[in-house]
Amino acid sequence: MNSQALAYTPEVERETAAIRERLSIVVDEKKWRIAAPYVAEINRLKREKNAIILAHNYQPSDIYFGVADVTGDSLKLAQEAAKTTADVIVQAGVYFMAETAKVLNPHKTVLIPDMHAGCSLADSITAADIALLRQKYPGVPVVSYVNTSAEVKAASDVCVTSGNAIKIVKAMNVPKLIFLPDEYLAKYVASQCPETEIIAWKGHCEVHELFTPEYIREIRAEHPGVVVLAHPECAPDVLAESDFVGSTAQMQDYVTDKHPPRVVLITECSMSDNVYAENPDLEFIKPCQLCPHMQLMTLPKILHSLQTMTHEVKIEKAIQEKALLSIQKMLDLSK
Ligand code: SF4
Repeated sequence: MNSQALAYTPEVERETAAIRERLSIVVDEKKWRIAAPYVAEINRLKREKNAIILAHNYQPSDIYFGVADVTGDSLKLAQEAAKTTADVIVQAGVYFMAETAKVLNPHKTVLIPDMHAGCSLADSITAADIALLRQKYPGVPVVSYVNTSAEVKAASDVCVTSGNAIKIVKAMNVPKLIFLPDEYLAKYVASQCPETEIIAWKGHCEVHELFTPEYIREIRAEHPGVVVLAHPECAPDVLAESDFVGSTAQMQDYVTDKHPPRVVLITECSMSDNVYAENPDLEFIKPCQLCPHMQLMTLPKILHSLQTMTHEVKIEKAIQEKALLSIQKMLDLSK
């Protein structure tokens, strides 16, 4: 089916009514009439091709609620990717996430709808940098944040996500380790694991580094009683101003469990829409820092990806096998 021919017909309206209901608080009628035909066609193609879509928590709501089969943080997406019986995996997220899905599913077709969906953290380090670090610190284990290329994972001893980094560093029980590439996450983990000396790299998330302590103080002044939840990719002085620090999944759990009446999520702001849609009785203060890479994913691109089976993620076998060891070690230690 040519995407130009997509129209908001009564049939599309009927097929997508339940999704529309969940999204109504964050997507207006005009936008929905454009999105719904794509949602219906993508879901039809998924069935036809035995495909699933993995969507990160930072994905726009029309993708997150409309077409995703699995939503979550990097860890959950990686775990579900390892379990799937689908033949085709489409990653609605950024390139390193698609690579992670491919590492875990080397015999499946993994597609990324836009090859330019990168990440400032993943781009900040290479396998050659790790080789130099290993020369400088012989015998010191290398822990890589999941926001890295497959080559960097292959050159590391274990991967971590922001949700399990502390648990895994504690479980490693070593006096010293190298933690890369996120300097701020490394510092946060070091603050929670004082028994381990942590050597950090200088990578930063271009979205989370935009937040400042002054910004948090302004939000508190303008919205009295607001509960501030921050992602550990933020700078230490931002985390110090926050009420809770956690991964995207941990922030979601905090909102669901504690139900703070007024809340701000100090992270990529598409996530606020997604959590708000599931907690419409709460007041969300939206910070509006969008990740330009995550925003490259759109419904038309996902449809095109499934229609043309592009762009397929390929990883050299030796890299895939070594990267799998790092990811597998993370999944084992995070159980
Ligand atoms: S939000 Fe930051 S860490 Fe996440 S994909 Fe974008 S640049 Fe990378």
